[in-house]
Amino acid sequence: MRKSAAGRIVLQRGKDKPVRQRHPWIFSGAIQRLEGDPEPGAIVDVLASDGSWLAYAEHNPASQIRARVIAWDQKSWPDADFWRQRIAASIERRRQLLPQAQARRLVFADSDGIPGLIVDQYGEHLVLQSLTAGAERRKAQTVAILVDLLHPDSISERGDPVRKKEGLPPVEGTLWGTTPAEAIIVTENGHRFWMDVGGGQKTGFYLDQARNRAAVAAYCQGAEVLNAFSYTGAFAVHALAGGARHVINVDSSSAALKMAAANFQLNGMGPERWQNIEADVFTQLRHWRDEGRQFDLIILDPPKFATSRRQIDRAARGYKDINWLAMRLLRPGGLLASFSCSGLISADLFQKILFGAALDARREVRIIRHFSQASDHPVLLSFPQAAYLKGLLCHVA
Ligand code: SAH
Repeated sequence: MRKSAAGRIVLQRGKDKPVRQRHPWIFSGAIQRLEGDPEPGAIVDVLASDGSWLAYAEHNPASQIRARVIAWDQKSWPDADFWRQRIAASIERRRQLLPQAQARRLVFADSDGIPGLIVDQYGEHLVLQSLTAGAERRKAQTVAILVDLLHPDSISERGDPVRKKEGLPPVEGTLWGTTPAEAIIVTENGHRFWMDVGGGQKTGFYLDQARNRAAVAAYCQGAEVLNAFSYTGAFAVHALAGGARHVINVDSSSAALKMAAANFQLNGMGPERWQNIEADVFTQLRHWRDEGRQFDLIILDPPKFATSRRQIDRAARGYKDINWLAMRLLRPGGLLASFSCSGLISADLFQKILFGAALDARREVRIIRHFSQASDHPVLLSFPQAAYLKGLLCHVA
């Protein structure tokens, strides 16, 4: 049965090109008029100014991104079967690209053609985020499809600050089965980690860094390592497994550090090899600078400093601050693995920020490796905004 759209969006003249080139976002400024009265998340037809049909999109009057395109073919009406195919195809890509991974992102929103939906797999448990009005509307259907395709033990839902920008209320809870009451163990690159399906940050574990952790570990032999913004110490466990002499985790969250301690123990790493410091990284780095403390390898993996365009300048200053301090704390020939997960800070800008940091630190710095997000967080060529994680491994002379 062919259903029809709840309304239609007619684009401004000359604003149809991004849609034709399969960019999924339609901003309010591109829209000439809305016809009909679609509910938040309902499907609308997208028409060019000359009336030609372009796409189906999910409309949200509460969002800056007024509509998110889901199909460019008029025959592809988005019914349950349509979404089932999209979700199955996303899962299949992970089976192809990360067949061994027990913890992996199964669905990465627009990059998988499923706006607003994040699904992370931790063994038998799934964690879901629904970040747009459209995703919210199809949530029950999504859960049914995931249950049918994967037969998980549980599906838990986690909120995110971006829901607010979409006019969605905070959420948290169990969508299917029983969320484990205690932390579970997940495996990454052969190491074991505690993670809390029902608590913790984001969906519980930062999966986007999986291959970067292994990459950084390869440079850790004999090194004294500082892991700043450690969360539950996943980089630190990799560093010790890679032969680091000693590693220090710094994080402002005592809960994260408690789990970090448990993670060292879980991987058989004795307390003589590590230390956890609960502190503000900005303050702690200054304290060490004043003390003349030095490290061989420093990892900087801060939270997103820029969540809106207005914050870009302030974020850039924040990145520069921690990076010049870290450069100062490195022994000659030391390595800095520096990351930014702010989508609004481009890889190019990030490199310029590190250049500024190197000038201030008066160190000669060479890029020896570029990092990006793991392959379960792919980037559609038609949607480059999905590339949010960037990192540089730098040799600091
Ligand atoms: N590197 C981690 C992920 C880091 S997420 C991993 O591989 O899993 C960012 C972390 O920074 C969070 O754990 C948060 O608690 C911490 N954080 C945020 N601001 C901080 C600050 N100013 N000082 C110290 N830690 C901070």
